[in-house]
Amino acid sequence: LRGVIALDGPAGTGKSTVARRLASTLRAAYLDTGAMYRAVTLAVLRGGGDPAEVAKSSGVQMGTNPEDPTVLLDGADVSAEIRGPEVTLAVSEVSAVAEVRRILVDQQRAIIAAAVSAQGGIVVEGRDIGTAVAPDADLKVYLTASADARAQRRTRQDEAAGRAANLEETLADVRRRDDYDSSRAVSPMRKADDAIELDTTDLDLAGVLTSLLDLVDG
Ligand code: C5P
Repeated sequence: LRGVIALDGPAGTGKSTVARRLASTLRAAYLDTGAMYRAVTLAVLRGGGDPAEVAKSSGVQMGTNPEDPTVLLDGADVSAEIRGPEVTLAVSEVSAVAEVRRILVDQQRAIIAAAVSAQGGIVVEGRDIGTAVAPDADLKVYLTASADARAQRRTRQDEAAGRAANLEETLADVRRRDDYDSSRAVSPMRKADDAIELDTTDLDLAGVLTSLLDLVDG
């Protein structure tokens, strides 16, 4: 792959799994921007303090290998902890802080530029990649799925990772975060005008991957 693929959309569309597989298949780098907001949120929960100050001072390091996208916070692997319920509950509020977004978007652009020059291409997933982080991306896809399908996927992921899983609570969390993420003042989650919308409700992973590879070739 040469260039940047932006994958946006709400929680539970299978975005992360698909983005990693797509990057591996294309031998591209991979960036999970949601994990960056999660890592800063974990640092806020641990140490308290102003989220913007925490974002500025906390050392978040993102692995961009799609086979092993490890997230480090001050040198320690927090890849599992950032998926836990405490972080999931607080992350939308932290990511709505304008200064936090400014700092992380700068970091994201630097990671993207470095990956493109080192490897040729990168798959970037998030909520505002096509609209704000990489508006000149070569391909923009906005993944959607019904709220029920998304809650079911999240629940299965939680179960597979050994976390407590409850479909009703997950559905409520998915809806709450969607509302929050799409109504915040700064870079709300939305489909970029030039993004292609892909509804994954009735597709399995292989189906989504095939559709994306068609778009890449297209
Ligand atoms: O993708 P994931 O569910 O891990 O994202 C966690 C949260 O991070 C989202 O609910 C959203 O509040 C925030 N986020 C964001 N902008 C991004 C990626 C994630 O605001 N580009």
